[in-house]
Amino acid sequence: MIIKLNNTTNANQISNIQFFLKTNSYEFFYQDFNKQLIVPILKQTELLNQFDFIDEIIEISTPYQLSSKQYKNNTVFNVKGIEIGGNDLNLIAGPCSIETEDQIHVVAEFLKNQQVKFIRGGAFKPRTSPYSFRGLGNKGLKFIKEAAVKNDLRVVTELMDLSNLEEVYNHTDIIQIGARNMSNFSLLAELGKTNKPIMLKRGMSAKATEWLLAADYILCGGNENVILCERGIRSFDMQSRNVFDLGVIPLMQSLSHLPVFADPSHGVGKAAFVNKMGLAAIAAGADGLMIEIHPNPEKALSDGEQALTFNEFELFIQNSKPLLSAINKSADFVNKKKTLEYQNF
Ligand code: PEP
Ligand code: MN
Repeated sequence: MIIKLNNTTNANQISNIQFFLKTNSYEFFYQDFNKQLIVPILKQTELLNQFDFIDEIIEISTPYQLSSKQYKNNTVFNVKGIEIGGNDLNLIAGPCSIETEDQIHVVAEFLKNQQVKFIRGGAFKPRTSPYSFRGLGNKGLKFIKEAAVKNDLRVVTELMDLSNLEEVYNHTDIIQIGARNMSNFSLLAELGKTNKPIMLKRGMSAKATEWLLAADYILCGGNENVILCERGIRSFDMQSRNVFDLGVIPLMQSLSHLPVFADPSHGVGKAAFVNKMGLAAIAAGADGLMIEIHPNPEKALSDGEQALTFNEFELFIQNSKPLLSAINKSADFVNKKKTLEYQNF
């Protein structure tokens, strides 16, 4: 149940209803960003009639509340003038890790020439082995931001730990939460208090409901700008890195109002399949894609096997255009329309 208070509700009225909910053992979370209360435990709503500052009570039958389609139809927001969750497919590309200043500048220039609007690159890398390259840390953040500013790109980079929140916040336009942290609920709750868009990747074995409840952790802190990103799930098959779950794209769009992106690179783990599976994700209705590219994949310090070369990525862009027009979808890298007013995050 989501209770919407009207926007003239004052602090006194809010503490009255909070007291009422507490003493009647409703569990609730107060959010001041748009004066809402969420009450996930269903109780008799007639009792609430006494509060004339309640605008609307929305009964939601799913365990997840704020991410539910029953609450809202669509989430659209803009990141430095580029709309997310609207009619355009968004494309994010870049290396798995930021490796050197030169590497990220070369990638950024290439992306700009391809009219891509978002660059990705990890500075804090969640590696399975502690002996693998774990990223350049703050130095990497500085490199990617400089490369992005120079080439009019927006940054997507991963936050692994709250101790790095301030630095990551100051150097990125979208914070990526990786598969391994999808269930780090205290991290998600803190991100709910920020105003930075969050791309929440699906946990390796997360069910749709678990993934949406994780999104609710962010949403109920007041941050409404959340993107879901399918990146493949674990299975019994040793041949492929992951099972890229294309079916979950329309499923999530039917359950939730949040934009649904797909990451075919981690989804399949092999560069030779990324092109086809990226197209498949577009056909499945993804709102955006994230693709790993590298100037020299063989020398990559992480995920080289799944990184596209510049030529392969260019081919992907070319292949996507007839598909996009066949399904009547525009894309942020084809659109010539002027960027929107900047939204400040
Ligand atoms: C990544 O994007 O490089 C990454 C580590 O992703 P995931 O969390 O999906 O494994
Ligand atoms: Mn990677």
